[in-house]
Amino acid sequence: MIGLSVAYALARRGRGPRVLLLERGQTGQASSWAGAGMIAPVAPDALTSGATPREGLAMLRALSSCLYETWARDLRDETGIDPEYRRQGGVDLAFNTKEADELQAMSGRWKREGIVFERLAQADYHRVEPRLNDQVQAVYFLPDRAQIRNPRLLRALRIACQQRGVTIETGCEVANVVEQGGRVRGVRLEDGTERPGEIVVLAAGAWTGGLLERLGRAIPTRPVKGQLALLAGPPGWLRRIVEHGSYYLVPRADGRILAGATIEPDAGFDSSPTEEGVREVLEEAFLMCPGLRAFPVERTWAGLRPGSPDSRPLIGPLPGIQGLIVAAGHKRAGLQQAPGTGEVVADLIEGVEPRVPLEWCRPDRDPVPDEEVPSVRS
Ligand SMILES: Cc1cc2nc3c(=O)[nH]c(=O)nc-3n(C[C@H](O)[C@H](O)[C@H](O)COP(=O)(O)OP(=O)(O)OC[C@H]3O[C@@H](n4cnc5c(N)ncnc54)[C@H](O)[C@@H]3O)c2cc1C
Repeated sequence: MIGLSVAYALARRGRGPRVLLLERGQTGQASSWAGAGMIAPVAPDALTSGATPREGLAMLRALSSCLYETWARDLRDETGIDPEYRRQGGVDLAFNTKEADELQAMSGRWKREGIVFERLAQADYHRVEPRLNDQVQAVYFLPDRAQIRNPRLLRALRIACQQRGVTIETGCEVANVVEQGGRVRGVRLEDGTERPGEIVVLAAGAWTGGLLERLGRAIPTRPVKGQLALLAGPPGWLRRIVEHGSYYLVPRADGRILAGATIEPDAGFDSSPTEEGVREVLEEAFLMCPGLRAFPVERTWAGLRPGSPDSRPLIGPLPGIQGLIVAAGHKRAGLQQAPGTGEVVADLIEGVEPRVPLEWCRPDRDPVPDEEVPSVRS
């Protein structure tokens, strides 16, 4: 998603014929295919501030959120594939006093950031989302929570990039960046061949850290495994995105419901679903909406979110090697932050001031402890 977004942002500026995207397997797989496609609500005026890490992150999210409307429409027109961008809203649930207190604290952040929300009165719970568990104790409604159907989005992006002149080589594993005299000269593939380039963007998801290590840079992008189950429900059964802590339900337009997700930072690069992980997400799904038990599980899978040393993505030039840009480490929010990331990286490549200040996410920063930035809630 991140690599395709950078390529598409450049292609939209007429630079497609100068872009070469190298992909080890097939495009649009890996974490980006596996993700749920939730797009967190943002305040549009977050686009105008950006001094602190918190504001910088809010700006990137706001930029992405605005771009999604345009990209989804243009991609549908350009490729005939509808990425199903839908702002159908979402509800956050609490089942006990502790969780209700946590949600209240979270709502303080929403308020500070200008995100629209409403704490529902009990009489309104089922009006807003009829399928909720009767045992729920507090419900917050966020009307601007949106979703994108990521597998479709990824297919549309690939086709649109190619139509705009981008060359995509699949089955090409990059082994190393070629540098000379402190400047990037291109990349070397595992088969020993080279591809020349004045600028190289490393957007290899959880594998980016490994490539950086080969350049002598210790910037880890540890994989954080997440497992999902897909339930086959009828269209319209669930109206909104439902969240309970880090678990969620995402209703697709065709009735399918995604139930996610585990957060496994110690599972390494193994991306196969496990019985235990699937049981965990299903139990949570049935807690949120007990009626889901009636639907068959159509498919289960797992993906590897690209981590970073703290809660923030790694976006920007890597000092010491001119022409090398990193765009990785988006963790739980890489889909929602992708269009914004694509645009700011395209700004960097064109040598213009990025639309979002990037100091807070520079790849060579000292990691900030997690509590200083809001957890990236997708
Ligand atoms: C279960 C789950 C649920 C999620 N839900 C959401 C959500 O609701 N909202 C949201 O915003 N985000 C979500 N995410 C996170 C999001 O999916 C990721 O942050 C995002 O997809 C990362 O994109 P990426 O392009 O950096 O990485 P990837 O999609 O992993 O892509 C990296 C690509 O680099 C290629 N590559 C690696 N090494 C090399 C090499 N040496 N040479 C060539 N190519 C290479 C890989 O083959 C791969 O195609 C979720 C993730 C998971 C796993």
